[in-house]
Amino acid sequence: MPFLSLRRPSPKIGSGAAAASLTRTTTTASATAISAAVSGRCTYAGCETGWMQRRRNRAAPVFEGGWTCSAACSVGCLQAAIRRELMGRQSSCATHRHRIPLGLLMMEQGWITQIQLRQALAAQRASGGGRLGEWLVRQRAVHASQVTRALAIQWSCPVLPAATHDPAAVTAVMPRLFVDAFGALPLRLAGDNLLYLGFEQRPDPVLSLALTRMLEIRVEYGIVPESEFRPALREMVRAEFPPVELVEAVNESAAARAMANALEKAHPAASRLVRVHNLLWLRFWRRSAHSSLSMQDHVSDLICSIGSPW
Ligand SMILES: [Zn+2]
Repeated sequence: MPFLSLRRPSPKIGSGAAAASLTRTTTTASATAISAAVSGRCTYAGCETGWMQRRRNRAAPVFEGGWTCSAACSVGCLQAAIRRELMGRQSSCATHRHRIPLGLLMMEQGWITQIQLRQALAAQRASGGGRLGEWLVRQRAVHASQVTRALAIQWSCPVLPAATHDPAAVTAVMPRLFVDAFGALPLRLAGDNLLYLGFEQRPDPVLSLALTRMLEIRVEYGIVPESEFRPALREMVRAEFPPVELVEAVNESAAARAMANALEKAHPAASRLVRVHNLLWLRFWRRSAHSSLSMQDHVSDLICSIGSPW
């Protein structure tokens, strides 16, 4: 068995306004693909379907702005896209940068003394864990807001408040799995092309880049104060997200076949593949932005891992 379909949750999802803005970017690509379908040009470079055999009445599926004429060509396109995504995997791991430890940073800022830092580190060691910032707050060396500010300085990003967080407006941004797995909290959309993405302790630039590529929007990420992050996260995971299919594939070929199969079934007006750490994320837009203002029923996701358990 080449792959295992693990889960298919409820098909209901969140805000139409948010989803509509997220599908607007697919319009041009869809229009181009539909015109390719009409003219009979398959997007797969290795297409071997004869001109006479092409199904000119097949306007979908559309993958990354191109129309595929057959299931075999969909597999070919997915194989190429998977290779492209996995090629960048090593280089993104190598971009890790050393960060100044939080305690030293707060000492440099003059917020704590060396004695307070030593006491907090000793308490952390003695208890066998806990975050240094929490120990400093518990020992009344700093206020929680200073820990948040220190984290933002450490990661060179802003502090983002969660006060205006509206879960229903941002559930179409990404699958719930990413909220759980990466501790990422989509906070809000500003206009058509800016997403604010919050983290509690440590931002995830890889996820941020994946969202930029998938949604063709700018992502501003930052640290959310702990007291706001946790309640907002609890609300977020209770919200209804787009339907998602989880696939575990034994190798790249099996992944391509599984994704092409899903592509053929969904018959999307637009779709795209990006990698998020060791997961491949395939998103389908079932209609182009021309067809509906409310797109909440028209977004679905497939997340695939290759050769490793979840
Ligand atoms: Zn073809």
